[in-house]
Amino acid sequence: SERTLVLVKPDGVERGLVGEVIARIERKGLKLAALELRTADRATAEQHYAEHDGKSFYNDLVDFITGGPLVALVVEGVRAIPAFRQLAGGTDPVEKATPGTIRGDFGLEVQYNLVHGSDSAESAEREIKIWFPNL
Ligand code: ATP
Repeated sequence: SERTLVLVKPDGVERGLVGEVIARIERKGLKLAALELRTADRATAEQHYAEHDGKSFYNDLVDFITGGPLVALVVEGVRAIPAFRQLAGGTDPVEKATPGTIRGDFGLEVQYNLVHGSDSAESAEREIKIWFPNL
């Protein structure tokens, strides 16, 4: 069993899709290990997206992710990291994510792609420390 860090980003919260995302996580057989609604401060967002520092979309991304409440979760289960990425679908909700995935069913734009999920065991460990330092 492993853990992954999931975010329902501010667009997902704004659109009322928190329950939808959690329902899909639970139906898949994954467990919720932590869950919190909060508005991220700039330092947290910059740490989370450090790998994108310097890219054209970095400032917009940090503005967006700090622009309203999000839901941070730790999700646990067998192959939780790839399993949640499968539920999320590809980064671009139209060009990459397929119907049946969260992004494929509900997203239109790359920036507003509703959810984040850690992409590796190393990322998961790093990101869980950022969002849930006491876990
Ligand atoms: P996440 O890290 O949020 O799960 P991801 O791993 O699918 O997404 P990354 O390539 O790590 O995608 O990009 C991180 C986030 O940055 C994306 O989810 C998206 O919100 C935003 N993003 C990525 N590329 C672009 C772009 N070209 N324009 C605007 N925003 C982008």
